[in-house]
Amino acid sequence: MSEDLAAVAALVEVDRWIDRLAGQRDHLPEQSELTALEVELRERAREIEVARAAIAPTRAAYEAALEEAERLATRERELRDRLARSTAGAREIEAVAHEADQVAERRQGADERALALLEELEVGDARVAELRLVAQPALTRREELMATVAALRASLDDEIVARRTEREQRVAAVAPDLLARYEARRTRAGVSGAAHVVDGRCDGCRIALAPLDLDRWRATRDAEWIDCPSCGRMLLP
Ligand SMILES: [Zn+2]
Repeated sequence: MSEDLAAVAALVEVDRWIDRLAGQRDHLPEQSELTALEVELRERAREIEVARAAIAPTRAAYEAALEEAERLATRERELRDRLARSTAGAREIEAVAHEADQVAERRQGADERALALLEELEVGDARVAELRLVAQPALTRREELMATVAALRASLDDEIVARRTEREQRVAAVAPDLLARYEARRTRAGVSGAAHVVDGRCDGCRIALAPLDLDRWRATRDAEWIDCPSCGRMLLP
């Protein structure tokens, strides 16, 4: 094997390694799972939001009823106090007592309303809590996946950096004009600028060579290498 051939073959090998690693990093199964999970979690969050929005008017009505009950209770107390201390005439006392009774009745109504609203609210809150509970395993899984994806990416990135350093060394071993030819083909075809022929096929693009091209490839020795008619990569003898 000539020196040029060995140097280019070594470059092909490291370029394919780098491409495989980058492919692994960009297509982690954990990342696909995470993406799907995030779609699911967005849907869950939307359901929770809808459930919360559905009970918001009930909550507002409940709080208003509570306030009303408290206001009426205060008013009732004031009236009862006035009655207790009153030195007024019978007619006025009767009027105050009548108002106090009316206020008491309205307060009772507000209390009942608040209670009914509270029951409604509890059903709604339970629904929200249930939806949160249903989403919990997915949230936990998301945390796990995020950690796994980050760790795998970091490890693959480290390996890619190491392989790129190795590539620089291998590039240095290729003659400049040959390297220029290689890089031009790599830019065009991607991954590597040269390929091997395995079982009559270019192993860069996996397309079978025509018999005539195969004969031409067999005839190449150390001199000019032919390019794959399909992907344009140099076909190493
Ligand atoms: Zn090819």
